[in-house]
Amino acid sequence: MLLISRRFLGLLVVLAGAPALGYAGPVPTPPAAESFPLGQFRLTALRDAQNVVPNDNSVFGVGRTPAEVSGVLAAAGAPTDKIALGVDALLVQGAGRVMLFDTGLGPRVHGQVAASLALAGVTPDEVTDVFVTHSHFDHVGGLATADGQSAFPKAVIHMSAKEWAFMRSHASNAGLVKAISAQVRTFEPGGMIAPGVRAVALVGHTPGHTGYEISSGGARLIDIGDSAHSAIISLAKPDWDIEYDQDPAAGRANRRALLTRLAASHEWVFAPHFPFPGVGHVEAKGDGFIWAPGKP
Ligand SMILES: [Zn+2]
Repeated sequence: MLLISRRFLGLLVVLAGAPALGYAGPVPTPPAAESFPLGQFRLTALRDAQNVVPNDNSVFGVGRTPAEVSGVLAAAGAPTDKIALGVDALLVQGAGRVMLFDTGLGPRVHGQVAASLALAGVTPDEVTDVFVTHSHFDHVGGLATADGQSAFPKAVIHMSAKEWAFMRSHASNAGLVKAISAQVRTFEPGGMIAPGVRAVALVGHTPGHTGYEISSGGARLIDIGDSAHSAIISLAKPDWDIEYDQDPAAGRANRRALLTRLAASHEWVFAPHFPFPGVGHVEAKGDGFIWAPGKP
């Protein structure tokens, strides 16, 4: 149905209720919406799902050993047999816009973004803009309703030109591409694409993977998309390969460069796969980094 890696396929299969293929997969999660201010903007983290992956080097620490991964998890006080990830989206209201950053898994596979959006008091028709970090199904699945229609019919759907080309290159995306094509507006990263929203190329995870800097009244937060997946492992060991990165070398380089910059600037970060609400700071520690959750 959508652009997926082998592990994402496992996730999809589990969500659909099929045999688990030895893969832990997502934990059913109730909707949640957690709001906070950023300058004149009101931001809301929207919970979609949780994803639990085993500590077997199939996703995290590819080419390493489970013991190495366990060491990192134990040092952070986390369970060592599995790695728990959030799946979240971000709502930004302000400047006369209702802006949604990524859309979660979608209703076909029990994604909760639509329900979380309702908790935030927003209807799908009110969304004016959707910004896509990349076209993996846990970010674009929610662009369609359960019956395959556009989920946000009045929104402009912003996506980097490279990512839109990448998305359309997969026949499995045909239905979704058809549902949203008329609404898609592509861009080249590096500039402002909406009031208070600047697109930043963060290449490696996918060819057109994009982060979004959201600014208002001198305050700033960056949605880093899938530049880092685990708030523990991806930060402590940014140079370890993750199976989800399409270009692992570029993914490593992007991750270290981005985390280095964020630790220096100490700006607010939203990370869709960090523990809900996925908001906080990156801090340098040793040769890596740690996550400091918090809200503006
Ligand atoms: Zn993702």
